[in-house]
Parts: sequence; structure tokens; C-alpha cells
Amino acid sequence: ESKRAGRGVVRVFDESMDESIRFRRQIEGGLSEAIAKGELKMVYQPIISRDGLEIIGFEALMRWNTEEFGPISPAMFIPIAEESNLIHELGDWAIDEAAKTLQQWPGQYVSVNFSPRQFRRQNFVGHIIERVQHHGIAPDRIQIEITETAIFDDAERAAETLYRLRQMGFRIALDDFGTGYSSLYNIRRFALDCLKIDRSFIDGMGRERASAAIVHSIIHLGRALGLEVVAEGVETQEQLDTLLVAGCSHLQGYFFSRPVDADIACELAERRWLGTPPGDNVVTLEA
Ligand code: C2E
Ligand code: MG
Ligand code: MG
Ligand code: MG
Repeated sequence: ESKRAGRGVVRVFDESMDESIRFRRQIEGGLSEAIAKGELKMVYQPIISRDGLEIIGFEALMRWNTEEFGPISPAMFIPIAEESNLIHELGDWAIDEAAKTLQQWPGQYVSVNFSPRQFRRQNFVGHIIERVQHHGIAPDRIQIEITETAIFDDAERAAETLYRLRQMGFRIALDDFGTGYSSLYNIRRFALDCLKIDRSFIDGMGRERASAAIVHSIIHLGRALGLEVVAEGVETQEQLDTLLVAGCSHLQGYFFSRPVDADIACELAERRWLGTPPGDNVVTLEA
């Protein structure tokens, strides 16, 4: 009896392995056709400055709606694309989309995510410049978001790449800051404009001392180095208040806006303020 049960367990386990490998293959296959089939789109989430809560940029985030499985999260499909050259196709498509949308905004930048493999590709700088020039966009309206993982392996080469990108005028943000492996020494060496505090710390801030301490440290570090600091995943008024008191310069999260479709992003960009624009709430006394 127990032998049979044991075999049964093994069999079930094997089947589930098969299942997950099959699923991955399906994802890979689906992704390679996703662009042609028009299944991908970009959505845009406002990034807000603490001063007047003005929209100063948008993060571009990829969405994939499949016929077979419905919507699949980028947290699921980007790592699969990252294991092959598919990531380059998706990445090029992403920057082209973002560039087109950006042209309809009055002045905000678009912040585009690049995975480690994209960042490390041969002649990344030349490649990205070519795409941006193709769309006739000033590099300073593009922010390149990379994670610590992208720069950790070969810090020497990464520092050089970032330096060159920054010289061309691109903005550089270090995404999910605090979750990776970069040492403070490296932070000092890299040409950066912005640190993005990972959402997990903002989420933990109200509950755990450690998260609150990390958030405060990153804000202080960023300020001391003259960098912008964006808090990701701001969901509550309480989090916002804490971040403003701590001196955080920029904010992003559902509290302000979820990622929205390009046409809505354009409306928001035109409006420039999520709340009341400064001046509108000034009461003028009648003579
Ligand atoms: P990320 O770059 O750290 O993006 C922030 C993620 O947090 C997004 O998830 C965004 O929708 C989510 N978010 C923003 N505010 C809130 C909030 O208040 N609460 C909660 N719970 N979540 C919030 P998303 O869009 O699912 O993307 C997940 C990750 O997938 C991204 O993390 C990024 O690493 C990757 N990704 C997305 N689009 C692209 C892309 O075009 N290229 C590459 N290479 N990676 C991408
Ligand atoms: Mg990001
Ligand atoms: Mg992030
Ligand atoms: Mg993230």
C-alpha cells in the first residue's frame, strides 16, 4: 500500500514538472508571436514630484494579453524572455512604443525598464541611441531603469556604459533599490540620476522597524549624493505622509494612479497635476 502511494507521489510530482516545463514552452512560443499578433501593449504609471504633486514622468510597463491564458504578468513572462534573445525583441518594441507615446506629452519623461541581458548586450549604447534618434526624441526625455543585478556582475563595464549613456543625455534610474547586491562603493562610481526604493520596503514601512529604517537610509543616501529618490508602490495616505516627512523627492503608486493606457496617460500628462494645480486653490479677494 505505502509503496503504491509512494510511487503515486513520485508520479504526480513528475507530471507537475512536465506541466511547468510545458507551460514555459507555451509561454516562450506565445511570446515569440505576441508582437505580430498585437497581444502586447504598454501602460504608463505617473511619477509625481513632492512639490505640488506634479506629474514629471511616467514608467512604461508591459502588458501581455494572451488568447489562451488571458493576461500574463510581466513578472512571469519577462524572466522567461530574459533567458533567450526574445528579450531584445520585446525590449525594442517597448522603447518604440514608449517613444511614440512620449511625443504626445508636453514635457514629461518616460522611464523604460531594461533587463540585465538587454543592458549587457554588445553595443547597448549605440543601439539605444539609434532607436531614440529614429523617433527624433531628445535622450533627456528617456529614463533607463536597470536593476542592481544588471550592474553587479561586471561593475567596470557597467560603469562605463552608464557613463556613456549619461553623457548622451539619458537619465538613469536604479530600480528596486535595496533588494540587489550593489555595494555602496559601486553606487558612488555609477553615473545615476535616480534611486527607486523597492515597493516591498514601502509596504513594510508601517509594520516593521527594519523596513522603515531602510527607507529612511535610502532617502538620506540619495539626497547626500544629489539623486532623486522615487518611492515605489505608495498605496496609502499614511505612507505618503511618512515619505514626505522623511524627505523623499518623488512618488509612484496606486495611491496616485495605477498604470493607465496611453490615451489616458496623454490626458494626465496634459493636465500635469493629479490634484489641484498650484494657483487654482488660491482665493482671490474681490475688490
Ligand atoms: P518594476 O519595474 O519594479 O515596476 C513596478 C511594478 O510595481 C509594476 O508591476 C507596477 O504595476 C507595480 N506597482 C506600482 N505601484 C504599485 C502599488 O501601489 N501597489 C502595488 N501592489 N504594485 C504597484 P508590473 O507592471 O506587474 O511589472 C512587474 C515587473 O516586470 C517590473 O517591476 C519590471 O521589473 C518588469 N517589467 C515590466 N515591464 C517591463 C518592460 O517593458 N521591460 C522589462 N525588461 N521589464 C519589465
Ligand atoms: Mg521599474
Ligand atoms: Mg521597481
Ligand atoms: Mg520590481
